[in-house]
Amino acid sequence: MSSPYDNPKAVVRRTRKYGRAVFAREDIRKGETIAVFDGPVLDDDFEPWTDDLRNHTIQVGPTEWRDSKGFARYLNHSCDPNCGIKNRNRVVAMRPIQAGEEITWDYEMTEKNDWWKMKCRCGSDLCRKQIGNYRNMPRKIREKYKGYISDWLTGPSKAKSRPPASKRSKSKS
Ligand SMILES: [Zn+2]
Repeated sequence: MSSPYDNPKAVVRRTRKYGRAVFAREDIRKGETIAVFDGPVLDDDFEPWTDDLRNHTIQVGPTEWRDSKGFARYLNHSCDPNCGIKNRNRVVAMRPIQAGEEITWDYEMTEKNDWWKMKCRCGSDLCRKQIGNYRNMPRKIREKYKGYISDWLTGPSKAKSRPPASKRSKSKS
């Protein structure tokens, strides 16, 4: 299992508590690509949607997900992550990462659907306990992640589909 996008400064290790995880084996600079979800695009009627796929793919559109050929699929979630998402499928360091640190991103940076959620025990002070849907991400966290949330959730195509502000306020009154 390998991908030309896998950052050679990172390595997959088995952990006792939660299966495979990805760790930095040397310092990584802010902005470096860690890995890319470069597998085939699977839509929601793909068969079979196994638990393995459910837990290791990234959402790239309203009804589309991608797996990875390399280790992207083994990057774990954290509510206080050191990485974010560029475009729709590239995992990038959001801050400098030190050798030995686990490499994580926040799964709500890409997921917005009604059938996937996860109890979180990341242990961070910022832990939101249950995650699974960008809709529920607090505004403060969205601000903090600005520039690192999937284009499919924040991109121009979504903004265009919203009615203009004036119409929205009219329908309220
Ligand atoms: Zn958490």
